[in-house]
Amino acid sequence: MTTRPVNPLTGLDFTPAVGDMAFTPLQRQLLAKAHALGRDRFAPRAAQWDREASFPFANYDDLREAGFLKLCVPAGHGGLGADFPTYMMVAAEIGRFCGATALTWNMHICSTMWTGVLADGIPMDETQRAEHAARRQLHFRRIVQDGALYAQPFSEGTAAAAGRAPFGTTARKVDGGWLINGRKIWASLSGAADYYGVLCTEEVEGKDPDPRDTLYISVPATSEGFSISGEWDPLGMRGTVSRNLAFKDVFVSDDEQLMPRGIYFKGAQTWPAMFFTLSPTYLGVANAAYDFTVQYLRGEVPGEPPVKRRQFATKQIAVAQMRIQLEAMKSLFTRAIAEARPNPSKDERMRLYAAHYSIMEGANDIARLAIRTCGGQSMLRHLPLERLYRDSRCGALMLPWTAELVMDRMGRETLYETGEKDI
Ligand SMILES: Cc1cc2nc3c(=O)[nH]c(=O)nc-3n(C[C@H](O)[C@H](O)[C@H](O)COP(=O)(O)OP(=O)(O)OC[C@H]3O[C@@H](n4cnc5c(N)ncnc54)[C@H](O)[C@@H]3O)c2cc1C
Repeated sequence: MTTRPVNPLTGLDFTPAVGDMAFTPLQRQLLAKAHALGRDRFAPRAAQWDREASFPFANYDDLREAGFLKLCVPAGHGGLGADFPTYMMVAAEIGRFCGATALTWNMHICSTMWTGVLADGIPMDETQRAEHAARRQLHFRRIVQDGALYAQPFSEGTAAAAGRAPFGTTARKVDGGWLINGRKIWASLSGAADYYGVLCTEEVEGKDPDPRDTLYISVPATSEGFSISGEWDPLGMRGTVSRNLAFKDVFVSDDEQLMPRGIYFKGAQTWPAMFFTLSPTYLGVANAAYDFTVQYLRGEVPGEPPVKRRQFATKQIAVAQMRIQLEAMKSLFTRAIAEARPNPSKDERMRLYAAHYSIMEGANDIARLAIRTCGGQSMLRHLPLERLYRDSRCGALMLPWTAELVMDRMGRETLYETGEKDI
């Protein structure tokens, strides 16, 4: 990462993780804030969360103070009103300094973005629209006024989070609300969130469980019957603290619905880019691995002996390879965030998948090359590279768009148009 004179194009004195472009005034302001927070606060603390596998509470105090918890709450509700591309750019900048903070922040932000700007693009009838407009006020108010934190526990260890089966967690309608039963795995922010936005299947009398009856509903952390369990000692992204959740006859009021009945399923079909929001964290991690490599080969890492390694042709070639891959990732990313909209064309959807795959796999490629090129001393634990390497491995595992499932979708959706079958 190079600090330099203000670039007339970007209005910034650093190159953001997303790359150089003509930012809007809001984007410029948020990127500058994210960069300063990341550099001065998050980067120095990142090793601690990783070592302890503990949640970055101190970073969240900073995010709250900077107004970043309400980044995607619409301005009319007291938020900063960031749109999809703006969030994605800022998230990449945070990911560059602390992957676990960026990834958990993504879970929180999506709770506001999906119910906010994305929901505005999902077809709803008048009653549903009015219901949604009334209910989301409660969630936005909690975030804007109380600084509340929302998690997004979807995964269950079944095909549900991949979008291939109904969720096993169920919601039964009772007087004034819902009774939630089931379990979730891999719930980032477990123990840190004030509310858990779960996906569950509405139990409909006389009907088999159906993904179309998915309900998106928030469970307050203080609810009776709600519990958190399980060991937490993973390879990477250790600060996400993604443990298991159990719901045993948990009652939540109707007001906790984050979307009207049936709307989440429509949303997932209408707005595929909603799942692309996991990628900026890893674009940030890739930038960090690249930045470190350049600094290290130039002998400029603070606290390290000023040994230069840049004179070796093999190292120059590796840096070039890393840069080429990083530029390709950034180009796909910026194109995909600019194109993100409800009901994208087939080509836009393919580019979205390609961008997601390239970033999730590319982050790990770049981190792997970084360690190989910087050499043995660079993987010692007092340097960030080995953490970046471990963190970078996690992106391609995240449902619903794991690297495998993206390939699966791209191949199938290229060769088959909607409704086409081989007899
Ligand atoms: C750091 C981190 C943080 C996370 N945070 C959250 C969170 O906050 N909330 C949350 O809900 N989840 C979270 N997850 C979970 C994540 O999204 C996945 O659900 C989880 O990694 C899946 O693990 P699994 O062993 O159950 O994989 P499996 O479901 O067993 O899948 C293994 C692989 O098989 C493939 N596969 C799975 N299903 C199918 C299918 N139907 N057809 C074809 N191939 C398939 C996929 O490529 C997948 O990689 C997190 C994961 C990580 C690594």
